[in-house]
Parts: sequence; C-alpha cells; structure tokens
Amino acid sequence: MQSLDINFLHRLVCELDLERFFHMAAAGLAAQFAADGAALIVCEEPDRLRYQFFHGLPAAHQRLATHAFSNRLGVAGAALAARRPILVTNYADSPYAMPAYVACGLKASLCSPVVADGRVLAILAISWFCQSPPLPDAADYRMLAIVSDFMGTALHRFHTEQRLRTLALHDPLTGAANRNLFFDRLPRAMATAVRHERLVAIIVFDIDNFRMINDRLGHAMGDSLLVEIKRRVQDLIRTGDTLARLGGDEFALILEDVNRYSEIETVIERIRQTSGIRWGTNTTQIAVSISLGFTVYPIEDGPESTLLHHADIAMHEAKRAGGNRGLVFTDAMALSRDPQSDLVLQFGHAIEQGEMILYFQPVVDLLTGETVSAEALIRWQHPTHGLLAPPQFMAAMEHAYNSLKLDAWVIRAALAALARWQARGIFRTLHINLSASSVENHRFGDTVRRALAASEQAVDPRYLGIELVEWSTIRDLDAARALIDDCRRLGIAVALDDFGTGYAALQHLRSLPIDTIKIDKSFIAGITYDRADCVLVQSMISAAEAFGITPVAEGIETPAQRAVLLTMGCRFGQGYLFAPPGPEAQLWGPDDRGCAGDSHGESLPAPTGHPGARPL
Ligand code: C2E
Ligand code: MG
Ligand code: MG
Repeated sequence: MQSLDINFLHRLVCELDLERFFHMAAAGLAAQFAADGAALIVCEEPDRLRYQFFHGLPAAHQRLATHAFSNRLGVAGAALAARRPILVTNYADSPYAMPAYVACGLKASLCSPVVADGRVLAILAISWFCQSPPLPDAADYRMLAIVSDFMGTALHRFHTEQRLRTLALHDPLTGAANRNLFFDRLPRAMATAVRHERLVAIIVFDIDNFRMINDRLGHAMGDSLLVEIKRRVQDLIRTGDTLARLGGDEFALILEDVNRYSEIETVIERIRQTSGIRWGTNTTQIAVSISLGFTVYPIEDGPESTLLHHADIAMHEAKRAGGNRGLVFTDAMALSRDPQSDLVLQFGHAIEQGEMILYFQPVVDLLTGETVSAEALIRWQHPTHGLLAPPQFMAAMEHAYNSLKLDAWVIRAALAALARWQARGIFRTLHINLSASSVENHRFGDTVRRALAASEQAVDPRYLGIELVEWSTIRDLDAARALIDDCRRLGIAVALDDFGTGYAALQHLRSLPIDTIKIDKSFIAGITYDRADCVLVQSMISAAEAFGITPVAEGIETPAQRAVLLTMGCRFGQGYLFAPPGPEAQLWGPDDRGCAGDSHGESLPAPTGHPGARPL
C-alpha cells in the first residue's frame, strides 16, 4: 500500500468543483486500495440513500449510477448506522448483499461515512468488481479518513452555495419566487405562449387591510399568514406556473399554457375563495380576504413591466370597489385613475415640494455600543398619507426618472447633514443608499461634485459613504466597477447592501473593490436558532475578512443576536436593538452649538490617505 501522498491531498483541497473533486478523490482512493471504482452515495431525506457519482462503474451497469435505496440496506446502510468504515470482502455471501450489485459482479465493498458538522451527509463506497481486495492497512484507513473529511467539507460548501443560490431567487419567508425570478420567467412564458398559441395570465394580489392585521395580531402572525396564503395558492396552481412575492403582502402569479379566458376566471375565483380564511389567536380572529387584478397576454400586449403594472392597477381598482374580488385590467381603469392618487406621478413633484426627509440610523461598535457611523434612510412626509417608509413607495422610487432625481436629492441632503455635523466637530461617515439607476448611470461622481460645488457650507466628502443594493451591481458589473472607481477618486467608501440576497454573492468580494458588506437582516433574524443562517452568516463574515472587507450586520434586534455576531467576529452592526431610524437630533442630540461635540464626547480626526483606513 502507498503512503499518504501530500501532492494528491493538496490538489484535492484546491479543487472547488464538487464533481471534479469527487472524481479526483475516487481515482486516488481506487489507486490506494487497488480497487476498481468508488462512489459517492448521498443521504436524502427522510431515509433514502442515492448514488450521486460513480467512478469506474462498468459500462454495462450504468443504470446503477443514480440508484436510490433505503438507508437500512447494503454496506452503505451499515456504515451509516455504525458511523464508521465497514469492509465486506465477500459481498455476494454477506448479509449486506443487494441483488442488483451481486448481478453486476460486485466482489467487495468498503463504505466510509462522510461527516460534516456532526451529521453524516453521504457515504464514500470503494468497490472491487474484478478482484478481491488486498487487506487494507492502517495507512489506507488514515487516507480514507482524510479523504472522507475533505469530502465532507466539499459537500457542506456545495450545500451552502446551493442555499445561497436559492435565496437569490426566492423570498426567504414564504419560499415563493422573488421579483428577479418573476421577471426572468415572464418573458419566457410570453414567448412560449406565442409559439403554442396559448394565453398567459399575469395576476397580482394582496391581502386586504394587511397593515391592520399586522398591527392587531403582530408581525409574527402577519408573516405566518403570508406563508399560509402562499401555501394555499401554490396548491391550486400547476408546477409550471410561477408564484412570486414582490414585497410586503403583494404576490404576483404567472399562469401559463392557458387555452381559454374562462380558465383564468375560474383560477382567480378559486384563489379568492381559498384565501378567505380566519386568522389569529384564540382570542383575536380576523377574517382575511384578498383582492386580485390581472391582465391576459397576448390579448393585452406590451412590455412585461407594463403588464405587471396594469395588473397592479386592476388590483387597486378591486380594492377601491371594496376588496375581496378580482378584476381584469381595462384601459378605462388607467384613464379613470386619479393621477393625484398615483404615487409614481406624485413622487417627482414631492421631491421639489420638500416632502422628502432623511432619517438616520446609527451603526454601532457591537463591543462598546459606540456609534461609529450612520445610515441615511429616506422618508416621505406625504400631505395626506402621513410619514411613509420606502416599502410603501418602492414602485415610485424605483421608477428610473424618479430614482435619479431622488439620488441627487439624497446626495445634497446628506452633504448638508455632514456639513452640520462637521461644523459641530462630529466627524463620522454617513452612508446613503443609491438606486440601481445610479449604478448604471455613470454620472454619479459628477452629481456629487456638483452638489459639493453648490453646498453653502464647507464639507469634507470623504465622510460620505454609499450603499449599493447587491442585485443592482450584478445587473451591470462594469458600470458598478466604474462607479466604485469614481467613489475611490472622491474618497467615498462603498458598501454592498443586503449582502447575501444577490446571486453569486461571494464572487463580488473578489471582483469589486468595496470597503464594507452589509449582511442582510433576513440572515441575522435566524442566527440564534437556525443552523443554516448561522453557517451562512459565519461564511460571509469569514469571506469578508479574507478579502479585507468589513462586515456589518443589519437588523440586530436582540442582545442574543449581538452576542452571536461578536463571537463570529463581526464587530459592527445596526438595528432596533440600538436605535430605529429617526430624525437627526436622535442621532447626535440637538444642535447645541457652543457646548457641542458628538454624543460620545469625542470626535475623530479627519481621514488621511486610503479611505478604507478610516473607521466605518
Ligand atoms: P436598507 O438600506 O437595507 O436599510 C435597512 C432597512 O432596515 C431600513 O428600512 C431600516 O428601517 C430597517 N431596519 C433597521 N433596523 C432594523 C431592525 O432591527 N429590524 C428590522 N426588521 N428592520 C430594521 P427602510 O428605512 O424602510 O428602508 C428600506 C430600504 O429602502 C433600504 O434598505 C434601502 O434599500 C431603501 N432606501 C432607503 N432609503 C433610501 C434612499 O435614500 N435612496 C434609495 N435609493 N433607497 C433607499
Ligand atoms: Mg442600506
Ligand atoms: Mg440592507
């Protein structure tokens, strides 16, 4: 038997692709054990084992390459139960023999459990088809243990990456598709409909009075209602249809392959009925109803976003008519809509009318509680609806024309705030959120320069930071890089916001020269009870550290979350635990010039050199 081959192990560790990793490991094991092949048999819920890869399986028996069987059977089942390697030298006569493998001439088998995080994820099975095995020695078993451990790490990483990919396209709360996946599927559904002369229905629905339900029953009950509605609607539709959660309580549905208009009406009515439930606790029960709007392609033609918008208009008409009903979009609806009630139209005007204000949320040092920087969050002081937060006017904000105008306003307002702070001796970074349009629009640097030139007070722009929503940077990576370079020239720090929710998140750490990642609050919510969230957050923090990027946790609500983050090596965060977003006075105290200074009585010196060198 050979001794441990360090070069082989080194090549193995460097291989990132799971399948290539397996074949390399299998070839190494087969050589070490003078065997004919090796397989990876994965544990599937609830009690199945399934061949994932088989190296050296005789060509005549390829049907066994993906064979699944009960986890109580075979040498693999025995190794799983015993949690240690099991060698069977005379397979056909052993109690573990399975007829299919006897038939394909399996003479001997050595199965070893692949463990990661205390769980058996798979079995590595070494097989002898042509010859009986020479008896393995201690060095062979040591090699098997090391390769099994490496395999465990590789499988664990593979599962984590898979989960990140799922998260990128799905809503973490309900598991429904997210907006990205919805807009990925809709054009394809429309193209297929044209080819096969079928109809596609684009349906939008939301829960009537959801805000009231949330207020009365609490957010946890509101969340579980969303999950329940999603489950009920999912049960009604076909596998090829797409149910997406667009945000808040708003869902959108693509019904494909429809022959007749009346089928759509039937589905709409069934969705309405199945969502008519009572929801609440033993003491408080609320009758739930939903409103739906829809449009049918190609009866109505137009770009995807317009079709969705029209379905949305129809849904709002259904609400105006009293809710608990479904309506198809008509042109008359668009015309009869009061433009004043359309937030998209009002928004641009509102900026000019001075109805926008910035709220501020501190980013704190989790160890000391000290405020190290702040994030500016927009609020709309609406003349009739009161104070609105972004989720309530997201559509208006994301409208390309509005978002550029908003960004320009936010930059001006943030520089004015910085000027006020700096005049008080408070030198802390203020991060602003940039819209996707600004990322794709190369004039961001000019907008900052113009705002600086127009600023009435002196201000050091190196205390400005920007946050880019991750998916926006992905849409046009070159544009993101150009914008980040522009920021670097101005000394502006760059953070990737909602980190982990975008596709291929970790890749960006390598390719974009950013200073900070803000780990999305949907991950932080679970870190004290959900193993998967814990693993994901830890891997984001470790990856950030490896690239010299500062991780910041969003949405910290409990002391336990803060403690876990600190043990994971995350030093900075923000959340309701420390302070909700609020007016400027809440951040540093009222402007009491003369006896001022910041709320912690010290001010940091102005940054010098590389912007990444200063505190957040
Ligand atoms: P974001 O940049 O990820 O901001 C964090 C959001 O989390 C804020 O919501 C904040 O109020 C909320 N938050 C803070 N602490 C907690 C917590 O402990 N628990 C929970 N559940 N939430 C917390 P907000 O202010 O409603 O803003 C939502 C999003 O709107 C922002 O997400 C950002 O993407 C966007 N946004 C906000 N202001 C602007 C702006 O000026 N311009 C642009 N383009 N987008 C903005
Ligand atoms: Mg942000
Ligand atoms: Mg965020």
